[in-house]
Amino acid sequence: MTLELQRLSAGYGGMDVIHDIDLTVRPREIVTLIGANGAGKSTLLKTISGLTPSRTGTITFNGERIEGAPTATRMRLGIVHVPEGRQIFSGLSVSENLELGAYIHRRRSDEADAQRAEVATRFPMLRERMLEVAGNLSGGQQQMLAIGRGLMSRPKLLMLDEPSLGLAPRLVTEIFDLIVSLRDQGLAILLSEQNAQLSLAIADRGYVIENGRVALTGSGQELLQSKDVADRYLGVGVRHESSSAHMENGISRRLHNLMRSVPKT
Ligand code: ATP
Repeated sequence: MTLELQRLSAGYGGMDVIHDIDLTVRPREIVTLIGANGAGKSTLLKTISGLTPSRTGTITFNGERIEGAPTATRMRLGIVHVPEGRQIFSGLSVSENLELGAYIHRRRSDEADAQRAEVATRFPMLRERMLEVAGNLSGGQQQMLAIGRGLMSRPKLLMLDEPSLGLAPRLVTEIFDLIVSLRDQGLAILLSEQNAQLSLAIADRGYVIENGRVALTGSGQELLQSKDVADRYLGVGVRHESSSAHMENGISRRLHNLMRSVPKT
């Protein structure tokens, strides 16, 4: 799977919010978007999933032009968007929320059951709460549920909008570990994150979005070492740097080390 955007523009009302975006996500890549609030990251993800129509430019997925296709078609092709704020159905059970994620493929119920079991294996915390009303879950659990629901349709490209927003440090680490393990299992991930430091630390490549345009692009490491990026974005979301008690496994240690190696400005 490859996603390729060429000169993509989109917006609301009479105004463009993203302008001439060129961006590529290749198989088994984590690509992260960083940028200030309002830079246009969410709009970019929504334009890729079809929730916001594009104005000009092209979106090519696996060689197929999709900028005119409805969201449901894009989902069937394997593009899944987990929006900011989770947007789970709080009155439905965990299990029912997961089931809705499989709906787009009109999977037979035995297939949906098998997929739900697979998701439950990945998220033991969800397995224990399958019948619980989703509104009773903590913020972190709801984020896991939102990602789990996205995985129910077996995506090829998973787009995550601010998955760590508002989560306790230990859960932030868990979410980032999860993203790395999904990539390692073959998914491509497009991530929008306020936490530039952590997201660049796990990213294969990143794009800095400023005022709806790509201001800078490079490998995660290059952007982490960039003085421009450090000056503007690396102060955000580093509170958990001191939470070494939670840095348990390899990837977390790696993240911790990467964070420490970022030049102080
Ligand atoms: P954040 O992290 O705060 O979500 P962002 O980089 O994702 O920021 P967007 O949410 O894409 O940025 O917003 C980009 C611009 O588009 C902002 O000026 C915002 O006010 C505007 N905008 C977003 N959604 C809409 C909408 N539904 N209607 C009109 N304007 C919108």
